[in-house]
Amino acid sequence: MRRVQTQLESHVAALVQCRRCPRVVPPPVSGRAIVSDVMIIGQAPGVREPTLKRPFAHTAGRTLFRWFEQWCGLDEPAMRERIYLAAVIRCFPGKAPGGSDRVPSTAEIDNCSSWMNDEFELLRPRLVIPVGKLAIAQFIVCDKLDALIGRKFVINRDGFAFDLIPLPHPSGASPWHKISPGRELLAKAMRRIASHRTMRQIRSEFENEKARKES
Ligand code: SF4
Repeated sequence: MRRVQTQLESHVAALVQCRRCPRVVPPPVSGRAIVSDVMIIGQAPGVREPTLKRPFAHTAGRTLFRWFEQWCGLDEPAMRERIYLAAVIRCFPGKAPGGSDRVPSTAEIDNCSSWMNDEFELLRPRLVIPVGKLAIAQFIVCDKLDALIGRKFVINRDGFAFDLIPLPHPSGASPWHKISPGRELLAKAMRRIASHRTMRQIRSEFENEKARKES
């Protein structure tokens, strides 16, 4: 455990120095070096995350953490202290001509995949939660969210298996998760996540720690 922690700290230190992709806006954004059985994988940082120096730091992140607080009983600080936060690419891609965030190129996704590969190698997570179509598509074919959200998939990667429970992107730009059937499928996915044994374990540790502090 101690060895993995040290390796993960070195990994994060190297990651934030990465400058492989000429079109993205550095610096890379990384979560803390949290050794966890659970990994959340976002798409790419937004414009504010590099300044705030943490993933899921703005409006979409607030929505995501609200889902976890509502269904899993873990607030944002508890999530950041117990779950490893990764992304398909770790740098803000910049803006597209229409004003939305640019979709990362295949070359950028390939460049950045080595960071995620190393994280899988180090952490061997039991539960992976990809957030949004681009993140989901790194693991399974992702055409329609309706066919995927609310389901659990078992994925084999480099000789080990983990559960994958996809979530929609929490961005306000997409209404999918706010209207039927997205709203119900999101609730189903979050219930699956909350009842997964890794999340039950994390919640139990969090509640024990809180009770100790309050006593
Ligand atoms: S997107 Fe990934 S590979 Fe590209 S510069 Fe940023 S951290 Fe490095």
